[in-house]
Amino acid sequence: MSHIHPKDEPHAHLELKCPKDGTVMSKVVAGGVTIDRCEVCGAMWFDLNELERLLMGKVKSKEVDIGARTRTDAKIKTKNLDCPRDGERMKEIEYPDQSHVHIMKCPTCQGMLFDAGELVDVDKFTLLERMKAFFG
Ligand SMILES: [Zn+2]
Ligand SMILES: [Zn+2]
Repeated sequence: MSHIHPKDEPHAHLELKCPKDGTVMSKVVAGGVTIDRCEVCGAMWFDLNELERLLMGKVKSKEVDIGARTRTDAKIKTKNLDCPRDGERMKEIEYPDQSHVHIMKCPTCQGMLFDAGELVDVDKFTLLERMKAFFG
């Protein structure tokens, strides 16, 4: 895709804290996109357009989605989460065309937080939909 610019990531170097448990998130580079992932609960943070770029690239969602939280003893918040970029209270939304996946979205910066396993879920579904469209 010609409009993908892997280096166009002005905020990629900033450290983010996981909104769910406060852990400093790790940088994970996949397909030229740098995303932030919490190694405690497995949550993934995508800035605006990062998810799109990831899904359009040849990246397997399993490369960034560890699928499950690695530490079950940590205190994990599931409600009233604040955006790791700007502190804005995030809203729970349903992933488009996939009502069983609930993601947190920041109304200010449009960033999105996925729980562990949700990205794999979305990716599988997207693939399925593409196949359906192809085979009618
Ligand atoms: Zn976390
Ligand atoms: Zn935000």
